Amino acid sequence: MQKGTISVQTENIFPIIKKFLYSDHEIFLRELVSNAVDATTKLRILAERGEVKEEIGDTTIQIIREPEAKRIIIRDRGIGMTEEEVLKYLNQIAFSSAAEFLDKYKDSSIIGHFGLGFYSAFMVADKVEVVTKSWKPEAQAVKWTCEGNPEFTIESVEKSERGTDIILYVNEENADFLNNNRLQELLDKYCSFLPVSIQYGMKTEYLNDETDEDSEDAKEPKTQEVPNIINETRPIWKKTPSELKESDYKDFYRKLYPFGAEPMFWIHLNIDYPFNLTGVLYFPKLNASLEATRNKIHLYSNQVYVTDDVREIVPEWLLLLHGVIDSPDIPLNVSRSYLQSDGNVKKISEYITRKVGDKLNELFNQDRPAFEQKWRDLGVFIKYGVISDKKFEEKASNFTLLENTKGQFFLLNEYQDKVKGNQTDKHNKTVFIYTNDPEGHDALVKAAYNRGYDVLRLDTVLDNHWMQHIEYQAGMNVVFVRIDSETLDNLVQKDETRTSVLSETEIETVKKVFESVSGKDGKVDCKALSPDDQPVVIVRPEFMRRMKEMQSLQGMGMGDFPDMYNVVVNTNHPLVAQKLVSAQETDQKILAQYLYDLALLQQGMLKGEALTRFIGLTLEKV
Ligand code: ADP
Repeated sequence: MQKGTISVQTENIFPIIKKFLYSDHEIFLRELVSNAVDATTKLRILAERGEVKEEIGDTTIQIIREPEAKRIIIRDRGIGMTEEEVLKYLNQIAFSSAAEFLDKYKDSSIIGHFGLGFYSAFMVADKVEVVTKSWKPEAQAVKWTCEGNPEFTIESVEKSERGTDIILYVNEENADFLNNNRLQELLDKYCSFLPVSIQYGMKTEYLNDETDEDSEDAKEPKTQEVPNIINETRPIWKKTPSELKESDYKDFYRKLYPFGAEPMFWIHLNIDYPFNLTGVLYFPKLNASLEATRNKIHLYSNQVYVTDDVREIVPEWLLLLHGVIDSPDIPLNVSRSYLQSDGNVKKISEYITRKVGDKLNELFNQDRPAFEQKWRDLGVFIKYGVISDKKFEEKASNFTLLENTKGQFFLLNEYQDKVKGNQTDKHNKTVFIYTNDPEGHDALVKAAYNRGYDVLRLDTVLDNHWMQHIEYQAGMNVVFVRIDSETLDNLVQKDETRTSVLSETEIETVKKVFESVSGKDGKVDCKALSPDDQPVVIVRPEFMRRMKEMQSLQGMGMGDFPDMYNVVVNTNHPLVAQKLVSAQETDQKILAQYLYDLALLQQGMLKGEALTRFIGLTLEKV
């Protein structure tokens, strides 16, 4: 037996490893099983090259749980190690790479804590034994033992089979890893798609019963014990799309998100130059919202699970997608902030963006009516992309739709062509009239139809931002105007102004009377509108309202922007132009109050005492 000391530089690494990543102790399993997978893959390569002469046999990796002995064993039938290799790889390389990892980790969060390697065993075990026999002919098996301090021993042992056993003596603190369910859960999380079969104990399988139903045996279903293989070695994203059916994609989705609604469609990613990436991304149903659907993309590296948090790798707006991406070219043992400047990461997010754009384009061109039907679920996602990504925006103009209140769909340019004849204002801008509440604005919408206008339905959380974006975009020359932001007459502002039937002094009087009833709540604005328009209308100026809404969406204080509205008095309406102007001062006030309340009522803004007073006043007149 040989004893020795693992070269320790300044401090003892073991207490750091133990304390370190306290909440993430579970990654030891991923790290050790990944090593077992690597050792197996290396053996297969040697066999393919003809360097390993004999049959390599069954290479299934075993996870063995021994709760009484408080041990977990990770057993592989890979290349194994000779004594020299153990000394070199475990004492020097593994040790120094762990030291390097901890050094890096000190000031940054390394993605999924990936890459601590063999020494992660000491996060959960006070003592670790490695029993290994190299594939090399005549190799002597050895056992390396280390009790969580820099001392180790190495000795020759008997071992019949090639490969490595990593034996963990799990400490008290981490005893829950000895629990069957806990271990199963970790295997599911980290090892479900590793490329080498992994067995965790045995499971009971029911046999197809072909015996006669009447016979005695029929009562007891026949079972047999079979190895419990916990992983799928060739997951769907590693296959080619031509090998797969629609149901394969849907089944995989259900496996990932058992409680999610069916996805709308998906893209299969597969590229190996200039970087390697595979994956399947699904478009979930969003239902006009941006509710908490993030953290649904699983990141893998060569089929090893890394994390669910792909921020900084995938652009913000694409986080709404679900599924898997797998790339060995994403640097994982660096800090997150570094990622954004990484060339590969940039190219990867561009690639995904392009693929998403291509897919949407294809769906639109293949079957536009079907695409329109999905618009409610797709619109938010696409608009988010348009706002965030210039390249996507260019593509998206081919499939970004507008829906009007009649349920018809148009591309932006189609819509502009449709309405510009009737809805171009004095600045030569096409006015897109919209409602965020088709039911509540029903009367206004009908009045707009009568005027020959068309009305859009824009009611998703992102529409304000998106409209702003389209308005500022060069070349479009459109403005969006909400149906209640102006009087019908002024929604599309033309040059021709109506002449007022009242003189300037009379208008001044009307204004004063209305100001006395509206108080400081609404700014009074006298306008000469059509005598057929309503006498008083409450409008909310588009700009102020949008600012307020965007502010509240971003969770800023609402106090800054008051709920502003204007009281537009139609000085050409007979009730104003004749009745009010010729009445006594007290009657003027009563009439003004009545007309003002009526306008508030139409907007659902008349409440409490004011409403009671209004009803009283109306009854009195009846
Ligand atoms: P990494 O896997 O990143 O190289 P590790 O610390 O996990 O770092 O392991 C160090 C080295 O120890 C590996 O590169 C490998 O040569 C050797 N090793 C670890 N586990 C095994 C194993 N199960 N079978 C054979 N060699 C192993």
